[in-house]
Amino acid sequence: MTDLQPIIQAARQAAALCSAVQQKHIAPYQDGSNENVASKAGAEPVTIADYGAQAIICRALSQAFPEDGVIAEEGSEQFRALITAADQQEVADLIGGVLGETVTIDQVIGWLDHGLNRDSDRLWVIDPIDGTKGFIALRQYVVAIGVLDSHKRVVDGVMAAPGYLHGSAVFYTQDGAALVEAMNGGPARKLQASQRTDPSTLIALESFEKSHASQDLMGDLREAAGIGSAQIERIDSQEKYARVAAGDADLYLRLPRITSTRPHMIWDHAAGTALVEAAGGIVSDVDGSPLDFSHGRTLATNKGMIVANPRIHPRLIEAARQLELA
Ligand code: AMP
Ligand code: MG
Repeated sequence: MTDLQPIIQAARQAAALCSAVQQKHIAPYQDGSNENVASKAGAEPVTIADYGAQAIICRALSQAFPEDGVIAEEGSEQFRALITAADQQEVADLIGGVLGETVTIDQVIGWLDHGLNRDSDRLWVIDPIDGTKGFIALRQYVVAIGVLDSHKRVVDGVMAAPGYLHGSAVFYTQDGAALVEAMNGGPARKLQASQRTDPSTLIALESFEKSHASQDLMGDLREAAGIGSAQIERIDSQEKYARVAAGDADLYLRLPRITSTRPHMIWDHAAGTALVEAAGGIVSDVDGSPLDFSHGRTLATNKGMIVANPRIHPRLIEAARQLELA
């Protein structure tokens, strides 16, 4: 059993750094004039907070689990290529501020690539800011860390959700259960996926960004499953998984557009899968099989995600079969 405490602490620190960046560099520029947002290959946004958050988490891993491998969304190559020298220094200073110690750019670069290309019996999967578009637009985002075992199955997860529905919170697994605490600490509460089936009471989640999944296809699937009257909420990031785990929503669908060639990335699903499963919910591909985290950075063999409480999930899988999505 992995003691996640040092990583839960790092997720909180990473979220604190993200909040600081948001207040200083993002919130004042909501007119779209933000020069603090760089573009990675594929035109996805990335901010200094993405690098700062990843460096904090990898630093904690290097101390608590020095031999373990890491698969993370960001890396030092792009940090050096995309981020100006002044902003690199700001990342170091921001991390130093959160940790209460002096941090150098070289340390940041070292932490960013910690555990890269190293295989180990336990593998850490990091999305330092999941929902960067939400982070920039002051909607939802999370800091997400998943743990894979030697069979590349998801066994644990940590998720800091600064904008969670009921207030800033950190979610994590422990001894097979899913727990939530307020971001600033306090008692832990056990999570339980809902058992709701009445379509008029169901809350169905999907991406805020239209380009991330096919709203038409997901609507067709809900209709075919007899839950077309569910209330739809569109939010960014793996907060969707946390809400299903917490029973704050009943299902989350992610069905790519027919024309999409973009693979699903493992860091967008690892932590969330751990939380939902530990809370008694179900996470699967469109054919009902578990997501396959054994193909490196992508979920290369998976078509989409059907995440739901245990009573609704079978209906959605049957509907996917009827629609021949599987
Ligand atoms: P969500 O807010 O649930 O849509 O998830 C955010 C994640 O969607 C990001 O971390 C990206 O990995 C992923 N993403 C970005 N662009 C696309 C796209 N065009 N299609 C599908 N997923 C995307
Ligand atoms: Mg992401």
